[in-house]
Amino acid sequence: MGLFGFFNQSSLSRDMGIDLGTANTLVFVSGKGIVLQEPSVIAIDSKDKQTLAVGEDAKKMLGRTPGSVVVSRPLRNGVIADFDTAELMLKHFIQRANGGRTVNPRIVVGIPSGVTGVEQQALMNAALRAGAREVHVVDEPLAAAIGAGLPVTEPIGNMIIDIGGGTTEIAVLSYNGTVESESVRVAGDELNEAIIHYMKKIHNMIIGERTAEEVKIRIGSAYPTRNDDDAVMEVRGLHLLSGLPRTVTIKGPEIRESMSEPLLVIIEAVKRTLERTPPELAADIVDRGIMLAGGGALLRGINTLISHETGIITHIADEPLNCVVLGTGKVLENFNQMERVFSGRSQHQ
Ligand code: ADP
Ligand code: MG
Repeated sequence: MGLFGFFNQSSLSRDMGIDLGTANTLVFVSGKGIVLQEPSVIAIDSKDKQTLAVGEDAKKMLGRTPGSVVVSRPLRNGVIADFDTAELMLKHFIQRANGGRTVNPRIVVGIPSGVTGVEQQALMNAALRAGAREVHVVDEPLAAAIGAGLPVTEPIGNMIIDIGGGTTEIAVLSYNGTVESESVRVAGDELNEAIIHYMKKIHNMIIGERTAEEVKIRIGSAYPTRNDDDAVMEVRGLHLLSGLPRTVTIKGPEIRESMSEPLLVIIEAVKRTLERTPPELAADIVDRGIMLAGGGALLRGINTLISHETGIITHIADEPLNCVVLGTGKVLENFNQMERVFSGRSQHQ
């Protein structure tokens, strides 16, 4: 590498957009794009408090470690269960995305709206300690809407539903701001829980969280279609009565049925938000449709279910898992015009 290349690399400030999600953390670096996409999981040795693994490596350890190793998802329910581990994880991801170099990025971070002011402050401090020069927090649904390409700067009503792991965030946005919103702690994790519960009750079988997630992704659906109804899958777990491993074959429709309760909670929240929406904006939403983002948007038939229940057309974003981080990236690129979206939550070194 020539001197000029070296100069460029070391002096360019690599600004970062971060989606600190309850299930996945993504990092966008300006000029590069998405450089990191990892589960929001960290494994810590409880004896000496050493970090053993972060991200995918830590997720593989979930439910598979001896008692001395604590594998946790610090943002699991959209609230921070443990400040210290959340901080450790965030610092680790920032440093990894930075490639170990000591650049002092400006960071824009999207965090679940259920996170309290005090918790937000703790995360901003963690980012500053990880080397950020300044940190700005943006509302997750707003970032998701920007990333999904909705025209949020215009005085036009847009509705976004971001179904993540721990929370579903529903928001009506217009003119750079949130007009109405609701956050419910029912999303992908609760769908997994519902499958675990169903397997136990109907098939006398205990399955783990990762298996439940696999079932959901492979044969789960939110609304009937002929293809899904033919889907079957062999599931392994422990027989409740004998305590021995066994395999059962399950079908798509029973998994859909097992998830109906948490899906109803999401639908009810969407309806409540629509009911509170001022009429002009509601009319815009009817014209333009509802946008779906987050990993939950990939559940088969979720768009049809929402359309059916609300009477409004529903679109799935192009890259539902990347919307928030792409939104933070767009905020970085248009930083000076976008000052309004930070709602005063910024902090500098
Ligand atoms: P968060 O923003 O809370 O970190 P994500 O937007 O990354 O969450 O979405 C994670 C959730 O999406 C998980 O619950 C995961 O099981 C779910 N998910 C991912 N892919 C699919 C799929 N193909 N079908 C259904 N659910 C999915
Ligand atoms: Mg998210």
